[in-house]
Amino acid sequence: MVLKIYNTLSRKKENFKPLHKDFVGIYSCGPTVYWYQHIGNLRTYIFSDILKRVLKYKGFKVNHVINITDVGHLTSDADSGEDKIEKAAQKEHKSAQEIAEHYFSVFDKDLQKLNIIQPDIWCKATEHIKEQIELIKILEKKGYTYKTSDGIYFDTSKFKDYGKFAKLDIKGLQAGKRVGLGEKINKTDFALWKFSEEPGKRMQEWNSPWGVGFPGWHIECSAMSSKYLGEQFDIHTGGIDHIPIHHTNEIAQSECAFEKKPWVKFWMHGEFLTFKDGKMSKSSGKILTISDLEEKGFKPLVYRYFCLTTHYRKQLIFSMENLESAKNSYERLKNIISEIENDKKLNEKYLEEFENAINDDLDMPNALQVLWKLIRDEEAEGKFETIKKMDEVFGLKLLEKEKIKIPAEIKKLADERENARKNKDWKKADELRDKILKKGYQILDGKEGWEVKKI
Ligand code: AMP
Ligand code: ZN
Repeated sequence: MVLKIYNTLSRKKENFKPLHKDFVGIYSCGPTVYWYQHIGNLRTYIFSDILKRVLKYKGFKVNHVINITDVGHLTSDADSGEDKIEKAAQKEHKSAQEIAEHYFSVFDKDLQKLNIIQPDIWCKATEHIKEQIELIKILEKKGYTYKTSDGIYFDTSKFKDYGKFAKLDIKGLQAGKRVGLGEKINKTDFALWKFSEEPGKRMQEWNSPWGVGFPGWHIECSAMSSKYLGEQFDIHTGGIDHIPIHHTNEIAQSECAFEKKPWVKFWMHGEFLTFKDGKMSKSSGKILTISDLEEKGFKPLVYRYFCLTTHYRKQLIFSMENLESAKNSYERLKNIISEIENDKKLNEKYLEEFENAINDDLDMPNALQVLWKLIRDEEAEGKFETIKKMDEVFGLKLLEKEKIKIPAEIKKLADERENARKNKDWKKADELRDKILKKGYQILDGKEGWEVKKI
């Protein structure tokens, strides 16, 4: 069964075929590590994790690269404003490196909590300055660049397909030409290298053939992806906000430098997580992190389950009520699964249905439906092994037993019941069992005494 994925390049679902047999290169735009990654950002990494798991499930070898933007991302994506990392460093009285390391380590822990598989390669922009300079040199040599008083820019009018990817109205954009143009030739031109205003003042700056400064934000992704995946590769992922500027610019500079068309075969974009009344974004200050959810009593895997209930190309509206209902479903699911015995068989019928769902552009909501149908099917065989196989993709740790904390009150009642049973006072034992049940726990009599389970 062939995997179909929606390619932003064609705006269609296409049959996936890797450039090299059985081997898939994926590049995912990573975080700008100047603050916490919110649960919206993490939705995008859950999406790329599902993609990777599906490819692995289907037998492909995957080489996954995620970058870490630790320099050069200005407060406006369009090359103006302050450098986000420098700004945070000044505010928190730390070095740029300390800021980047701190927020990266929180992000990394969040990925682990969400059971997101680590990429094969993490790469930092600051550790690839040489590669970025080399790429700008290639673009300069080919005549795509020009210099202004604040940097080296890419002349987008020299790339005839500029804006095609995002279906940008270039003519319309250029019409309001003079506003905010500064020394740029075209409104859509973007910085490849920015000069330090006062060399020696910035925390992060490097020498270059054009002067002391730092790279523009977009160039890092072209330089690092080509270093680790080659000048043409299979899949590039990110959030939908990246389509009109960041990815449009990545395509322009890479297709001009490497002369491979298309530079990337499949572009995949995850839709946003939003609040009912608007965007979840760092700039609006309205964010929630995984730690915030944990403080409110939600396990990170509940959030993962919540994300899987909506297709990655659909907007997902976040509310505590929606998360609460995901929590109930996830706990119910795990409880039912904890009772299933392993008959060492696979259920091919359900597995086929599941594979149809994942092959259809990673349709996780449908795949979850198949799982629920399987566990509710009293006749079905091979539940345990089939769920185990499905969970290679879900990554929900469905078969991992939960260690629940039993409240002291429940423990006391369970001990009283045990005594009643020893004294053959069955009536009292049954009453106590019902009392425990009313408090939300089920008592099970095992070989080594009682056990209780949350219901
Ligand atoms: P950033 O650190 O801002 O570069 O964002 C990291 C990733 O999160 C990018 O792929 C963004 O497209 C994505 N992203 C940002 N905001 C959201 C959101 N509200 N929902 C889903 N993804 C998002
Ligand atoms: Zn990128």
